[in-house]
Amino acid sequence: SLNSHPTGNHFLQIPGPSPVPDRLLRAMSLPTIDHRGPEFAQLGRRVIEGMQRIFGTAQPVVIYPASGTGAWEAALCNTLSPGDKVLMYETGHFASLWHRMATRLGLDAELIAAPRADEWLPQAGHWRHGVDADFIEARLREDTQGRICAVCVVHNETSTGVTSDIRAVRAAIDAARHPALLIVDTISGLASADYRHDEWGVDVTVSGSQKGLMLPPGISFNALSQRALEASRAARLPRAYWDWEEIVAMNSTGYWPSTPNTNLLYALAEAIEMLEAEGLDHVFARHQRWAAGVRAAVTAWGLPIQCADARCHSPVLTGVITPAGVDADALRRVIHARFDLSLGTGLGKLKGRMFRMGHLGNINDLTLIAMVAGVEMGLRIQGVPLAGSGVEAAMQVFRETH
Ligand code: PLP
Repeated sequence: SLNSHPTGNHFLQIPGPSPVPDRLLRAMSLPTIDHRGPEFAQLGRRVIEGMQRIFGTAQPVVIYPASGTGAWEAALCNTLSPGDKVLMYETGHFASLWHRMATRLGLDAELIAAPRADEWLPQAGHWRHGVDADFIEARLREDTQGRICAVCVVHNETSTGVTSDIRAVRAAIDAARHPALLIVDTISGLASADYRHDEWGVDVTVSGSQKGLMLPPGISFNALSQRALEASRAARLPRAYWDWEEIVAMNSTGYWPSTPNTNLLYALAEAIEMLEAEGLDHVFARHQRWAAGVRAAVTAWGLPIQCADARCHSPVLTGVITPAGVDADALRRVIHARFDLSLGTGLGKLKGRMFRMGHLGNINDLTLIAMVAGVEMGLRIQGVPLAGSGVEAAMQVFRETH
């Protein structure tokens, strides 16, 4: 094939890791410095204060040299004790994995979801919707003894492209007058989708570097609240590396107890500067507009968008359900081989039934038109009947809105 030696740039359109701006790659290539030396403290303080602004918090932010999974574990083991009851909401594959982790850690973790009948995905109708805050409220009201210690939800469910209303979850906990902590995963939402840790009353927010922050994988975060810090003093799950106390204490001087990821912190400082120079509200609006263009393309093809609720379409990624008999992974393979374009696979219950298009990281309107064109060509190669041209539809959105 004449495409067997790809030229130009690869189209990394998975929903994270996202394409990294050259400015961040250059920042990472600077010499590694002494993490206990005098220059380092300035960098350390700069990234912690910057991340407080990105999370929307005046409380401590802990930075781990770990992927998001590490920060998930940190959030649980710092706040909870063996056998504690936690309520987790099944929005998709990542919520399910977090639940599996909670169970492995020895928590009594209950995974709930409001049932949803669905003609396209009868096995996973609830994976097409966001967190139902009323459902959580009803469950908390049943817990008259206050045994549930934490409510855990995924803000931007990366396996489906559904963004849940965290404010509504906080309101549900408050309406039930329940003392549970609110722990939120916004690993793929932060710095792409609107997020406000303090204002929304979140106790622990978990995030990662490789999505909206546009860094490579390798660092992750816990944003804390005073209640979370209090809970951590009584929490008895075993923890050592993840322990907040020592890290937060040393961070006040700009240092870490163990070796931080120096070169990724250079990139993080640059990313924060880029995001703030643009303004976070502008960043959020930009992703909403991109998402609208990509959804217009899917609608023009006549294919169902994974997220069935227009109130929670993700600004970060769009999941597309393939017609019965069309293997979404075979489609992805063809698109990769022919057009050097990577798309996200269907995870867990969605394997083979859907693919995911990312609209995050170092991209622009034309990157997305190219992505849509690559998918459209792939769908035609695989013989999928299309109602119309997604490329035309996306171009119209990008032409008419700016
Ligand atoms: N939670 C969400 C919502 C994610 O998207 C991911 C990764 O894609 C994770 C958790 C796990 O993070 P990691 O793969 O960085 O360990």
